[in-house]
Amino acid sequence: MLCKKRESTVTVRVRIAPSPTGNLHIGTARTAVFNYLFARHHDGKFILRIEDTDLERSRPEYTDNILNGLRWLGLNWDEGPFFQSQRLELYKEAVEKLLDQGLAYRCYTTSEELDALREAQKAKGEAPRYDNRHRYLTPEQRAEFEAQGRSSVIRFQIADDREIVWNDLVRGKMSWRGSDLGGDMVIARASSDGSGQPLYNFVVVVDDIDMEITHVIRGEDHIANTAKQILLYEALGAKIPEFAHTPLILNQEGRKLSKRDGVTSICDFQDLGFTAEALVNYMTLLGWSPGDSTQEIFDLESAAQDFGFDRVNKAGAKFDWDKLDWLNSQYLHHKPVGELTDLLMPFWEKAGYQFNGGRERSWLESLTGLIAASLTRLVDAVEMAKVFFTDGVELTEEGSQQLQQEGVKIVLQAIITALESQPNLSADIAQGIIKQVVKSENVKKGLVMRSLRAALTGDVHGPDLIQSWLLLNQIGLDRSRLNQAISNN
Ligand code: GLU
Repeated sequence: MLCKKRESTVTVRVRIAPSPTGNLHIGTARTAVFNYLFARHHDGKFILRIEDTDLERSRPEYTDNILNGLRWLGLNWDEGPFFQSQRLELYKEAVEKLLDQGLAYRCYTTSEELDALREAQKAKGEAPRYDNRHRYLTPEQRAEFEAQGRSSVIRFQIADDREIVWNDLVRGKMSWRGSDLGGDMVIARASSDGSGQPLYNFVVVVDDIDMEITHVIRGEDHIANTAKQILLYEALGAKIPEFAHTPLILNQEGRKLSKRDGVTSICDFQDLGFTAEALVNYMTLLGWSPGDSTQEIFDLESAAQDFGFDRVNKAGAKFDWDKLDWLNSQYLHHKPVGELTDLLMPFWEKAGYQFNGGRERSWLESLTGLIAASLTRLVDAVEMAKVFFTDGVELTEEGSQQLQQEGVKIVLQAIITALESQPNLSADIAQGIIKQVVKSENVKKGLVMRSLRAALTGDVHGPDLIQSWLLLNQIGLDRSRLNQAISNN
């Protein structure tokens, strides 16, 4: 058995290891969620490692985006961030160790030779693999290649007849043959200064050993890497961790969610107005279900109490926008008004709305309270609040028709007159004015309400009319709009 049973006294140590070659992706964030939940469930440690050995594609702004995204989601790490680019000495030592033990060797095969090998294999209908031709070079042969000026890579020996077996915490017994791993693997590339750039599968193992990772939880696209990595653990004389390969996130067509699907970065979801709580809650459900499957709304800490791999699916998890929207609306509808206002402010600011002319904090909170129940995403508040941040109104088709109906001008004029004797409008007073106009003009209440709404907001639908009126009254816009509606129609 490769996977030894751990004592329960061992502290669980897990890690998320994003590569800063793009913004924090929903797939990486979901893997981070599962790692976080597992760590918290076991009172363990959640470690952050930035895998920035790919110098060409790694960028500091992506690292910032990843750190900010994880923080925003509340996935706070206990150790790190560790940067692989600052740990090159450690990898170099490990390469030397494998070279000294004869488990790794210098390979001088040129890219032209490798291309020719691949072509020949293709012609015979065989899968491409390195044929291990430099595995047993003599010192003289090596000297000869070096004299020719050939550069070398470091390859790690993979025995074809090896069977690699592990008990995956999600997928059960997994088994790979050494012969299916593409021949001896390159663990360090040639580099101009001769130091050799260590490659992904190798540095991951060196780091996971050094960081004493007990459980490697990552996407199932890493399964083939796991087979190779297990061999490296053995070669480096280290204890093999447990592995859990989580299901992929799929798009509506059932294919792996990719950049082509548009919104896939955490910052995109943030810009669309999803709250961190809703997004984390949703990601938790992408592949895992709680013990009580009717429970859909929970925070990280309560999910952590319940989390385990026995309820992580093997099948891919389809991304469901409706479900995410529903969860988001639940969080928004239950947020205290002050907190919700804080979340809405950046969206209003971005829309260019000005906070002058009586639009103070208490007014903004009342506005938030008015629209809260209709919000699905925070960004919805931009359109909903527009009429409260502009001087005039834009009439919809229905709004315009309403204002052209017979008797409307008289009704609106009667409201203006009634307002004149009311320096301080309140909900009761507003209701009273409507009643009074219904009576004095002998019209239906519906006509008064619809006309008032059309004059104040330009539309015949919208949030609570009395509250809308009060808000407009507080910033001195109700009279001017009523007058405007009379003179325009
Ligand atoms: N850096 C890898 C990635 O971003 C993750 C490696 C791992 O979890 O082992 O996909």
